[in-house]
Amino acid sequence: LLRAHGLSKSFGELSVLRSIDLTVTKGEVVVLIGPSGSGKTTVLRSLNGLETPDGGTLTFAGGPDLDFSRPLPKRDRMALRDRSAMVFQQHNLFPHRTVLENVIEGPVHVQGVRRDEAVAAAEQLLDRVGLRDKRDVYPFQLSGGQQQRVGIVRALALRPSLLLFDEPTSALDPELVGEVLAVIKELADEGWTMVVVTHEVSFARAAADEVLFMDQGVIVERATPEQMFTRPQHERTRRFLDRIL
Ligand code: ATP
Repeated sequence: LLRAHGLSKSFGELSVLRSIDLTVTKGEVVVLIGPSGSGKTTVLRSLNGLETPDGGTLTFAGGPDLDFSRPLPKRDRMALRDRSAMVFQQHNLFPHRTVLENVIEGPVHVQGVRRDEAVAAAEQLLDRVGLRDKRDVYPFQLSGGQQQRVGIVRALALRPSLLLFDEPTSALDPELVGEVLAVIKELADEGWTMVVVTHEVSFARAAADEVLFMDQGVIVERATPEQMFTRPQHERTRRFLDRIL
């Protein structure tokens, strides 16, 4: 589905990504772990076109080869945005819009989908995550877990080929984490392709095809969850896992 090669990114003197290679096949679930500041969010934002790397290439299936060593044509940047949808740590819902309005915003205003079609699709998605009856309420009337489930529905409504999750449960109270992870696991089981930044090891074990450990802008180790969490090969990985396991 996508192939990234040699992605690099600096913010001033700070080298945040150093030659990141990443291949994600259709239906695959890739979990990205690593210490704070290691560059995980920057990887997701680069795949989504929210951040432009300084170097490297990125190709989505059927799309052009994007070469970041040259300025990207606007058309290519826009096309990149359409490929994936991101679910953020904080749900980022519009506070003055209802749940339904939040979900149809992207399809109607960005993608030009007809409003009645967008509403029908949104209702179906809300139904799937058990929130159909919350259609007309405002985000503040929902629990954190419900807000995050709406965040996921909002991403799905864009019909991306790739879902990106940036620590989707780290801002939630512990008792709400499970319901959000359950939704993500269901999507994984349905065959959605996703890259998930999370430190929820039990989720990674249950859902991931591959786990990548990042440190200081480099992918230090890639392995199956079983291998990563029981037999990590690198000292840096072991030290990090000792802290989170
Ligand atoms: P966390 O788990 O804390 O979110 P992360 O692994 O996702 O960390 P990134 O958010 O990708 O890490 O950030 C990597 C480094 O880049 C950090 O040192 C961060 O301060 C820096 N950084 C990120 N975005 C910017 C920016 N727009 N300007 C300057 N520095 C930035």
